[in-house]
Amino acid sequence: MIPPVHHAMTCEDVEHVLWLFLDDELDAPRRESVRRHLAECDACRGYFSFHRVFRRDIARVSQPIDVEALRARIVRALEAEGYVDPSSHSIPSER
Ligand SMILES: [Zn+2]
Repeated sequence: MIPPVHHAMTCEDVEHVLWLFLDDELDAPRRESVRRHLAECDACRGYFSFHRVFRRDIARVSQPIDVEALRARIVRALEAEGYVDPSSHSIPSER
């Protein structure tokens, strides 16, 4: 539940809207309330930092695929299945 605008946010309130805050989907007054609470509350600031980092990691994962890493993963999978000689570390060339 999103708390009313003119309302000093409690830790619980901040917890409820934190994802919206991180997504920048809160309206300005609520964003300001969250910011004010974070400035005064160590517990919520810690919680917020954790989630911000967590989100950044998610964003990194959803970035364009690293083709080399993907290829390496496929090669490993093929090796595990016995299709590729583990000592060669390459995909058999196309015929
Ligand atoms: Zn708090």
